[in-house]
Amino acid sequence: MSASHGLDCVAPWRGLMALRPRRWKLWSERKIVIGYVLAVELVAVGLAAGAIAAVPVALSDLSRFGLLAAGAIVHREAVRRIENQREWVASHGLLTNPTALWIFAGVLSVPLPLVYAMTTLVHLHSWYRGSAARLYRKLFSAATMVLAATAAVALLQLLEPNEYPVIPEGPIGLMVLLGAAALYWLVNVVIVVGAVMLSDPLQPVRQALGDPGDQVVVVASLGLAVALAMMLAFQPWLFVVPMLAVLPLHRALLLPHFQQVARTDCKTGLLTAGFWREEADRELQRARRLAEPLGVLMLDLDHFKSFNDRMGHLVGDQLLRAVADELRSETRPYDLVGRFGGEEFVILLPGVGAAQVEAIADRIRERISRLRVLVDGPHDGPTTVDGISISIGASVRPNDGDDIDHLVLAADGALLAAKAAGRDRVCLAHR
Ligand code: GH3
Ligand code: MG
Ligand code: MG
Repeated sequence: MSASHGLDCVAPWRGLMALRPRRWKLWSERKIVIGYVLAVELVAVGLAAGAIAAVPVALSDLSRFGLLAAGAIVHREAVRRIENQREWVASHGLLTNPTALWIFAGVLSVPLPLVYAMTTLVHLHSWYRGSAARLYRKLFSAATMVLAATAAVALLQLLEPNEYPVIPEGPIGLMVLLGAAALYWLVNVVIVVGAVMLSDPLQPVRQALGDPGDQVVVVASLGLAVALAMMLAFQPWLFVVPMLAVLPLHRALLLPHFQQVARTDCKTGLLTAGFWREEADRELQRARRLAEPLGVLMLDLDHFKSFNDRMGHLVGDQLLRAVADELRSETRPYDLVGRFGGEEFVILLPGVGAAQVEAIADRIRERISRLRVLVDGPHDGPTTVDGISISIGASVRPNDGDDIDHLVLAADGALLAAKAAGRDRVCLAHR
């Protein structure tokens, strides 16, 4: 699905946008994607209508339905901030859905029409409470889950259950149960990856599959779903116990992941500009308190555009990664090395004053000029790239400023001077 930046669907507008289907971003997708999404939704609606007409619901099913639906909503509320952030980040690609846990528990505990009702409820709730999700994405996700749940229920029929909850017995029961869980997972993944691939056919399947860690979470949550369903079947009151485990696990699994995403630039492994700035601010306050010096370097690769033009952007990326690795290994562990933008880097050197900054910057410059990188060439396989050069501007506290903005500005001015003077050199701000 196409990238969405969340801003055009923040809470106050969401209701309006949803009520104007003609303005949905879906319609700007390729025709084949629109057709695919509508086909999945149509099949889901057809299946749902058929099952609602054919499958009876007993009064006794309603209490299990109520407990599961309440559990799903409490779960989603408790992890609301994490999920909103994930939806925002994953607006391009596959987003694993933690509510899978409840839907699959529902597959084992209640008849299909109630599973569909749960799917609808859970999606409406997460759309209403979400900050970045679009209604059409929720519809598609709900349709996917309807298909996945229906496939899993069809497989469970091998056990010939005559009422709910379904309690698989013995090794055969276990096999069928595992098969149903696997099928549920597979149908979900295949449908969603299909949409992602259709909308961007050039990306590798592995990228469309998303983070493998997320899939591990889904598999784990299917396991928990079975435990929940069995507990619900035998001792509904004990249902609260796994519930207590679900919430902290969810938080514990996702928070570090997203902190990592926010802090690390995925192309180079360096700090992102935003996180660099935060950390640099902290270091600056420390330097002020202890009256210590501090150096800032701004670095920009020379003639990188023509390198890209000759070798292609993918090779350019490999070079960026190699340069980033050099910067890391040429600095101390507590220096902050960040990617400022495209092929611009920024380094904070705590404790480094006017006397040493030039020598350090020149050491880095020289190391880059000696760099030889083995890259996957555009035409003829692996090639060694050398003759790379970098220009560096340096500033120091307190001479050139006493806050990050001034120091970065001063170093940037020095960098421009280094470029103007012929590149592959270091210029200091205060000269
Ligand atoms: P100079 O700095 O020496 O003046 O010349 P330059 O060609 O490097 O000019 P500039 O710094 O303005 O150009 C930056 C180029 O870096 C433009 C763009 O093609 C490339 N670039 C920016 N980000 C990326 C990236 O993530 N990957 C790749 N491969 N290239 C990038
Ligand atoms: Mg540049
Ligand atoms: Mg450049």
